[in-house]
Amino acid sequence: MEVIKIKPDNITDVDWKILNELYPNNLKEIIKKLESKYPVQYLIGNVEFCDSIIEVNENVLIPRFETEYFVEKINKKLKIFSQNTLKILDIGTGSGCIIISLAKKNNQYFEAIDISFSALEVAKKNAINNNVNIFFKEKNILKEELDNDFDIIISNPPYVDFNEPVDIAIKYEPQNAIFANKGGLEFYERILKIIKNKPKIIAFEIGMNQGKEIEKMAKEKFPEATISIEKDLTSKNRYIFIENS
Ligand code: GLN
Repeated sequence: MEVIKIKPDNITDVDWKILNELYPNNLKEIIKKLESKYPVQYLIGNVEFCDSIIEVNENVLIPRFETEYFVEKINKKLKIFSQNTLKILDIGTGSGCIIISLAKKNNQYFEAIDISFSALEVAKKNAINNNVNIFFKEKNILKEELDNDFDIIISNPPYVDFNEPVDIAIKYEPQNAIFANKGGLEFYERILKIIKNKPKIIAFEIGMNQGKEIEKMAKEKFPEATISIEKDLTSKNRYIFIENS
């Protein structure tokens, strides 16, 4: 049998070792996939995200670094609230990475929704593996309303405009987790529309050029809110927090 020892350049030593263990007999095929930019995370089957191991497959977006920093920021904001009093909702949960990380560090009521049944399967498994209690629901928020009022609403929705140039690697990820209509803004517009109460915090991950427009929408809905656009670790505007006192 031919032995292939050549590690593709873009793969770390650690990942290469795992791939060798997982696919000892299919390395040729694996290298071919990696050369076509197939995500190594799907081949390995999990990623590390904010101190948790999150399983991933083609039904969920691969968690991004900027989303880890989003969770860090939300955790800081949640610190001032007392235990067990908040209802927290994650819209478009995908793998569940955000809400699971929050549920590990905070003792509140957590709910997460997604349009995709197969994504929810992954998220439920991840919640069990990480020992947290989250109530999951299948819901298409573009067509349906929210069932309840929530104190904290979090979302990293699809926000990439269909015309934006993107890395080819994302073609393997669920396209409905990445792209959105209205220049990528349709989910922010819709979420703000279907919120009926005045949540203490609405936290969105956003595209780096979307801050001003989302701020405007948020101001129309919540004229008295404190709104802050915050940067990710590469100094790009990446998050918006809408806080009602
Ligand atoms: N931030 C992701 C990317 O750049 C897209 C995920 C999203 O739209 N929320 O690929």
